[in-house]
Amino acid sequence: MQVKTQLDEIQNYLTDASNMQGGFAEKLFVPETVLEISEILREANEKKIAVTVSGARTGTVGGAIPFGGYVISLEKFNKIKSIDKENLFATVESGVSLIDFQKAVEAENLFYPPDPTEWSCQLGGTVATNASGARSFKYGATRNFVETLEVVLANGEIVKLKRGEVFSDNGFIELTTESGKTIKAKLPTYEQPDVRKNTSGYFSGAKIDAIDLFIGSEGTLGIITEIGLKLLPKPASFFSGIIFFENETNLLNFVNEARFISFQTRADKDQRPKTKDRIDASLIEYFDENALKFISEKFPEVPENAKGAIFFEQETNAETEDALLEQWNELLEKNGADLERSWFTTTEQDREKMRAFRHALPVSVNERIVRYKQKKIGTDMAVPDDCFVSFLRFLKEKLDESGLEYVIFGHIGDNHLHANMIPKTDEEATKARHLYGRFIAQSIMLGGTISAEHGIGKHKSKYLYVQYGERYLNEMAELKRAFDPHGILGRGNMFDVKFLSN
Ligand SMILES: Cc1cc2nc3c(=O)[nH]c(=O)nc-3n(C[C@H](O)[C@H](O)[C@H](O)COP(=O)(O)OP(=O)(O)OC[C@H]3O[C@@H](n4cnc5c(N)ncnc54)[C@H](O)[C@@H]3O)c2cc1C
Repeated sequence: MQVKTQLDEIQNYLTDASNMQGGFAEKLFVPETVLEISEILREANEKKIAVTVSGARTGTVGGAIPFGGYVISLEKFNKIKSIDKENLFATVESGVSLIDFQKAVEAENLFYPPDPTEWSCQLGGTVATNASGARSFKYGATRNFVETLEVVLANGEIVKLKRGEVFSDNGFIELTTESGKTIKAKLPTYEQPDVRKNTSGYFSGAKIDAIDLFIGSEGTLGIITEIGLKLLPKPASFFSGIIFFENETNLLNFVNEARFISFQTRADKDQRPKTKDRIDASLIEYFDENALKFISEKFPEVPENAKGAIFFEQETNAETEDALLEQWNELLEKNGADLERSWFTTTEQDREKMRAFRHALPVSVNERIVRYKQKKIGTDMAVPDDCFVSFLRFLKEKLDESGLEYVIFGHIGDNHLHANMIPKTDEEATKARHLYGRFIAQSIMLGGTISAEHGIGKHKSKYLYVQYGERYLNEMAELKRAFDPHGILGRGNMFDVKFLSN
């Protein structure tokens, strides 16, 4: 095992994609076995030294940034142990990168849907943040694919979890470690917001599977070392479209209908296999008018008068393709889409171009931000179905009033949009931060979540306090203490350390 202490060796492990500054650490460990991780944690626990788990550091909320103590990097846990084609199951070490895994799965003609855009992340990181992406609209977040976990707890004890084996009872979870010790923890009593994507705080509910507690726990309850993942057969092909609308009401009606029919199709599927040839979008993504203007710098073929666009994708095969194309066409016509100038494809090559179009937006925004020497301030909130349109109007109204440059885009199928504010000056940055606070308040008031996919980390812990309040943060801290009595793991992630000293 490598152990590094020099700043130039540790430097890369002190930042992540959040750009949060000020990270520092005493030692970096790069273990190669579970036993080594167990030993480091046993020592850190005895000495009450903070331990930060480091994946690929693509997280956007500072979760992997240490503020003192040890860093444990999982980069050597990079083996894909098995891909069982027959049982659609893979076992991996947690440091395997998503891109390596996707390539291996693809080579077996299988499909692993979770796709948080940034493929250099590690699978352990995606489990720890319950990462999701555009296709989560159909397939759900990473949680839906995690079947087994091996986790090393703060005191070095190891637990092995299998979905369906251990459930909470009367608000408590009881786990037995590999050495036979029992841990009993009280779950937080908050209700999960009524949204389809949520990464705010520990998973909780009336009866939860123990494995779900560790998914999305952001390196605060244990170090994930091995993961068993469910796979799907690879879809034969996809039908995709980037559709432009001259009228935003039409666009929103189209999204509403496409979403409604997709949910109906899924609900019927078990009873009526024929519904496979009915609309069932795997992703529905949104671009507002400003976003299109940004992208048109790289894609001049974007129609000038477009007030917004939708990118959708639908699984097809030789039997269903014609019927599905017809149904999408009907739905688009009915809702006044600009069919003449929209783009459609059933080929992999053109779909890549559509992905490039989607990707061009965050890239262009980042370029602009760098030019202004400022930081991007972007939302990650989701709200319940019936509040979505009013939330979007609220965002636009306040942003237009502010005079700030902004774009809104993202996972409209899940009522989850990223409103990115692009301040040009320090004064505008202050204005943007103020607005961000108002958006947080509004999303909470509507029963939504402050974070649908990026997690809380250190960046948003003060907003989690706003979402849950003192009582529930104390309950989260009580749960953490049951697994990590000295609060050494992921210190500062999700909630302030002051909650751990109660
Ligand atoms: C350009 C870009 C686009 C993105 N788009 C999306 C998106 O669409 N959807 C989305 O969900 N996310 C998105 N993300 C962020 C996303 O969180 C990460 O891509 C990924 O989930 C984190 O993996 P990582 O290995 O980089 O983890 P890190 O950033 O290293 O760590 C993230 C957190 O997990 C903990 N952790 C890491 N590994 C382990 C482990 N083995 N055991 C326990 N805890 C661990 C860390 O301590 C930290 O708290 C994006 C990021 C970028 C840069």
